[in-house]
Amino acid sequence: MANSNNNQNNNQDNNNFFNNNPLLAFALFSIVIIMIFKAVVGEGDGLGNMVNSNASLTKQVTYSQIKDLIKENKITDVKLTPATVEATGSSEGKNIRYIAQNIPAVDKDIIPLLEEKKIKYEGIMGGGWLSELIGMLLPILVFFAIWIFLAKRMQKGMGGSILGVGKAGKLINSEKPQTRFDDVAGADEAKEEVKEIVDFLKYPERYMELGAKIPKGVLLVGPPGTGKTLLAKAVAGEASVPFFSVNGSSFIEMFVGVGASRVRDLFEQAKKEAPAIIFIDEIDAIGKSRAAGGMMGGNDEREQTLNQLLAEMDGFGTNTPVIVLAATNRPEVLDAALLRAGRFDRQVLVDKPDYEGRLAILRVHIKDVKLAKNVDLEIVAKSTAGLAGADLANIINEGALLAGRQNKKEIEQSDLMEAIERAFVGLEKKNRKINEIEKKIVAYHESGHALMAELTAGATRVTKVSIIPRGLGALGYTLHLPDEENRFLKQKHELLAEIDVLLGGRAAEDIFVGDISTGAGNDLQRATDIIKSMISVFGMSEVAGLMVLEKSQNSFLGGGMAQKDYSEKMAEQIDITVKNQLDEHYARVKKTLREYSEAIETIAKVLLEVEVIEGKKVREIIKNYEVQKGITSRLAHTDKVAKEEHDAQKHQGA
Ligand code: ADP
Ligand code: ZN
Repeated sequence: MANSNNNQNNNQDNNNFFNNNPLLAFALFSIVIIMIFKAVVGEGDGLGNMVNSNASLTKQVTYSQIKDLIKENKITDVKLTPATVEATGSSEGKNIRYIAQNIPAVDKDIIPLLEEKKIKYEGIMGGGWLSELIGMLLPILVFFAIWIFLAKRMQKGMGGSILGVGKAGKLINSEKPQTRFDDVAGADEAKEEVKEIVDFLKYPERYMELGAKIPKGVLLVGPPGTGKTLLAKAVAGEASVPFFSVNGSSFIEMFVGVGASRVRDLFEQAKKEAPAIIFIDEIDAIGKSRAAGGMMGGNDEREQTLNQLLAEMDGFGTNTPVIVLAATNRPEVLDAALLRAGRFDRQVLVDKPDYEGRLAILRVHIKDVKLAKNVDLEIVAKSTAGLAGADLANIINEGALLAGRQNKKEIEQSDLMEAIERAFVGLEKKNRKINEIEKKIVAYHESGHALMAELTAGATRVTKVSIIPRGLGALGYTLHLPDEENRFLKQKHELLAEIDVLLGGRAAEDIFVGDISTGAGNDLQRATDIIKSMISVFGMSEVAGLMVLEKSQNSFLGGGMAQKDYSEKMAEQIDITVKNQLDEHYARVKKTLREYSEAIETIAKVLLEVEVIEGKKVREIIKNYEVQKGITSRLAHTDKVAKEEHDAQKHQGA
């Protein structure tokens, strides 16, 4: 996300009516405004006249009526302009101003008539059309100003502009990237997972003939700067297909409906040039679930945009070789509808690199710089734990700048070390670096989650545990990727299992650190939510039975603002039940953790050493512990473990 916008050929590929025809749009807008203005002020009464009028009564009349009035001696004073006649007279003691417009181009009779009646007259040369012109221009100017103001505000929100002025006009970038998989280092698993997409884009016919179902959407999940954009570009580059990219936040703006039409444009363009890749960065901006969206406005717009996106993805068949890649660092806030089959049903984790990964990334980025012989990239890699690819690229660049400033011919180790220090200072400001004590807390906390996930039937098994801080807020995480089955429904025992896994973090802190921290806040919130919805939405409790207490307003998008519909007494009972259940679960979880305390110690120790461990390793540690103690295994995912080990052996054999 960070430095990803250096695309060379940014077309202004936007079919949005206003953006393509700024002048036409503006002209139309002005005409409408002038018509409204005229209707309000009174047909034909230009602003110039309004300004001149001296509180007398003004009447719109025809030219011939004015001539009749003159003949009837009702006029005392006349002003002539090429386009209007303004006559002043009095009737019943009141001053009346008669105005005639659209007078016949040449009327030679009027002057002799005025002479004959001895009426004072004056001709204002051009006065008429000038005031007329001002009368027309003024509203235009006013609305031009408003227009510019709106355009500016929208530009801020979406990096684009109504009038198409300025370079910010590019919303949909289209390019043919030269990026290759070799440019993406240290993300081998992620690369492996997207490789088959390249093949499909290259030879779509092969797959279509077979009737194979190819994923339409792939979600790249990972912290900022880990190379999600880079990876998406590499897919396009390897397949040599066009790459259409947009930022999710650019869809959400003040005019309802614009986001949806932009999504339509995006897919239209991509389909025209298929095979192609569409890349949506920060998809959480559109795909935030309503429940997570909070009270902020703009929900309608987001929902429309999201619906359009879903419709587009459902709309093209698996035989249209367009693949949508989307990036997010907050998969947990995404609306469930986005993750359903046929949409972003594949998730690829693009994580912060481990030591080897960092080394590989550094090697990619030193290609274009001159390094002194004393540079030891291994030391650099060792000193940069917790940093993402973008940070590493920055460190190399910063090192080059530091060397340049001192007029050196080559970048030395000291320059790189200084650059690292600066990077960390920058991060410390952003609260992303954690200290040793925190690291220990996080290690035990995550070990607790991991252990509970492996020992609780119905829980999703662990894919990966990490104590590498992951963006703001999360200091570590335990990743559970759901299995293929059971993606639409959750059974009661699975919900209960989820609660145990969530409480595992806090319980581990409690037992092994001897103190509890704020780090469990989010877990506790989620555990509470699960119990509450079991009671009030899913009819899974004693206290409310089958009675549903909260209707969700928007079942399509899942969640939504709930309507509460129950008595105070019921509310009280719910509160008590929720608290009791949490306490019960917590006691049970603590008991389990104590029984497996040595296993937890081992997991935490390994985590502190290598920062990231695979789920397989967690299961191995637990298994070893159980064998050593001679207790019956409580591992909940044993059959899968066996299968996995079998697979692993196959790989080794091959
Ligand atoms: P994200 O989209 O995940 O925020 P980007 O793809 O925008 O991250 O990464 C920003 C820059 O950081 C890239 O252009 C590249 O220079 C560098 N970078 C990030 N990850 C890697 C990686 N795995 N290998 C090489 N360079 C990387
Ligand atoms: Zn936790």
